Amino acid sequence: MEKVAAGEQLAIHGGPKVKTTPFGTGKRFGLEEAKELLEALEQNTLFYHFGGKVKQFLKEFNELYRVDYSVATSSGTASIHVALGAAGVTAGDEVITSPITDQGTLIGILYQNAIPVFADLDPHTYNLDPASIEARITPRTKAIVVVHLAGNPCDMDPIMEIARKHNIKVIEDCAQSYLCRYKGRLAGTIGDYGCFSTNDFKHISTGDGGIVTVNSGDVNDYYVTHAFADKNYNRFGDLFNRDLNYLAPNYRMTELQGAVGIAQLKKLEWICEQRKRYGDRITEGLRGVPGISVHEVKEGNESTYWFYMMRIKEEELTCTREEFSAALSAEGIPNTPGYIKTVVYLQSLFQQRHAYPGTHYPFDLSDTTYEEGLCPTAEAILETAIRLTVNEFFTEDDIEATIRAVRKVAEHYRK
Ligand SMILES: *Cc1c(COP(=O)(O)O)cnc(C)c1O
Repeated sequence: MEKVAAGEQLAIHGGPKVKTTPFGTGKRFGLEEAKELLEALEQNTLFYHFGGKVKQFLKEFNELYRVDYSVATSSGTASIHVALGAAGVTAGDEVITSPITDQGTLIGILYQNAIPVFADLDPHTYNLDPASIEARITPRTKAIVVVHLAGNPCDMDPIMEIARKHNIKVIEDCAQSYLCRYKGRLAGTIGDYGCFSTNDFKHISTGDGGIVTVNSGDVNDYYVTHAFADKNYNRFGDLFNRDLNYLAPNYRMTELQGAVGIAQLKKLEWICEQRKRYGDRITEGLRGVPGISVHEVKEGNESTYWFYMMRIKEEELTCTREEFSAALSAEGIPNTPGYIKTVVYLQSLFQQRHAYPGTHYPFDLSDTTYEEGLCPTAEAILETAIRLTVNEFFTEDDIEATIRAVRKVAEHYRK
């Protein structure tokens, strides 16, 4: 690692910028996708159940993940809702989840008229702390939605143990976590259900879309999950049935998305490998830098870095997080202070307890509270985090420049 010369002027103060060349970019879609799309159209149907593209997409996904069953959906949000519905989560149930996540994690919980309960996070992996999960369990707890944030796996062994002990389901939100591994096992195959997103910002894109893995290995669980994504319409053999029993949404994936998904899936391992290498390299380059704590991946796990989130230790620096971020931008390194604006429970839906206009239902079914200080570690993470972009199309030089710039800014502001 090349040393930053002591006293080198920051770009924000008129000194030379660390990064003067553009970051690497690349084409995410090409003739591979176009060929699949043309074949889909030539089928003369775009309905997943009649065509072959969604089926092939799932077959290849199942082979990659070594699971028996998965269901295609219209989004990551839909996937999580489907898993909750299949798990039997219903009105008045409590579902424990993370306060730092996309709202897609919460939407299905509330549409099932269940109540989100927030547990606190590990300060350096930014994932759910098993002890905090256990402390939030009540007789109403029906499920845990773990969020593997930014490609980094949650501590699944203790979480599964707690869930088995209390007879509750575990749903893995893998929207940001393709091919990430917990002690060698793929995230999304450990809980009862694994939920993926193929929206345009994720590791792979079908425009919008999602997948739910059904991990029990029981074909009946697969049928229930499949039906919940398709208006509770049962399309299998003797079970063929379109009588409405319980409510379920239409979250079907189309053949166009399935077609693009087939081509995208072939690129997934390379995308994840690149991101893993780049993210791990940033950690190696930033370890021990004054005022910085790295995005920690626990020993034995593998992250595929949907983004890289470091934290600023303001007590070791003479600048604020915002000043640090601005100085880093001036060095030519794009970055964002924080992630979501506040922890989820401080957002107005939870503060007002208004999931639906004109009523406090389903919140009034539970004693759960959403006050400031509920998850102090999660709140502190968002106040001190700086997010760096990790992208598969970046070059080694892009990553080295990122490390150099963070070190330069940290050295300048060290106390
Ligand atoms: C993207 C995302 C979702 C929602 O996925 P959509 O496809 O946008 O509905 C859910 N959870 C997390 C953690 C996400 O990052």
